Amino acid sequence: MEKLLELKNVHVSFHTYGGEVKAVRGVSFHLEKGESLAIVGESGSGKSVTSKAVMRLLPNKTSEIKEGQILFEGKDLARLPEKGMEKIRGKEISMIFQDPMTSLNPTMTIGKQIMEGLRKHQNMSKSEAQERAINLLKLVGIPNPEIRIKEYPHQFSGGMRQRVVIAIALACNPKVLIADEPTTALDVTIQAQILDLMRDLQKKTGTAIILITHDLGVVANLAQRVAVMYGGTIVETGTVDEIFYNPKHPYTWGLLSSMPKLNAESKELLAIPGTPPDLLNPPKGCPFAARCPHAMQVCLNHMPESTKVSSTHQAACWLLDERAPKVEPPEAALVGGAR
Ligand code: SF4
Repeated sequence: MEKLLELKNVHVSFHTYGGEVKAVRGVSFHLEKGESLAIVGESGSGKSVTSKAVMRLLPNKTSEIKEGQILFEGKDLARLPEKGMEKIRGKEISMIFQDPMTSLNPTMTIGKQIMEGLRKHQNMSKSEAQERAINLLKLVGIPNPEIRIKEYPHQFSGGMRQRVVIAIALACNPKVLIADEPTTALDVTIQAQILDLMRDLQKKTGTAIILITHDLGVVANLAQRVAVMYGGTIVETGTVDEIFYNPKHPYTWGLLSSMPKLNAESKELLAIPGTPPDLLNPPKGCPFAARCPHAMQVCLNHMPESTKVSSTHQAACWLLDERAPKVEPPEAALVGGAR
């Protein structure tokens, strides 16, 4: 498969009064044409910062892509001047955010909001853009689009608003769609509908998706591959099956253990004890060491390198070193009936 987007050793820092917060520390991954990759982790793991770095939506004055490359169609987005990014953002790479209300302008009809990007990036006439906007609303499942196009965001329910946001993001046929917690603000039934819609649209349009989420249930529904982030680093990547059925990193075990199981007798969720590392003073060794029940001396002093488990599966954990003791994942991390 062809690589569409590739991040190589990306480091992102925020400059605060307290010092430099190293929010993303050496992240590398790629996205293939038409695939769906989930980036999973707790809040503060660096997943949203990574996706905003791709879109170059981080605040200029207080943040910086310090190192690394973000390669998209032969260009390094990490160093591309803002003028060049304006041609890519919204056209080649689009993004949808958690809360549809904050992504929509409350004072503009949704028709105008969809047409804006089409007029700007695709040089469409007003009537062409209007026709395309109606078709987009149909595509995302909004009934009576000819009428609803004239309405304002407050006249739509939360789920319908997220459909509008998806329509706007897809308006210019982007090659990549970044969805940052796209269903978190919605109730469970609507969440399922939006995930179905995204899966359907991906099949129809061939757009590659980067899905940012803390929810492994969402991953199982939509993604083909998964990157697990912790403490500003990627600790494990693999296909959905590899991550769900053969996870290798203790943090992934913790995430899986905290996921509700369909076949479990107890409905109690297991939280991962402890808190994420302070990225103002990141640990020298493994970022998960302070919370890991299997931490060894080497974990405290040396950052584990990524080890290949299969051609599609890698994890950064000293337990994969041949000198380490053999440790099996806890029973709660085995997902049998979770998918
Ligand atoms: Fe735990 Fe060590 Fe593996 Fe980190 S490297 S996850 S501390 S065993």
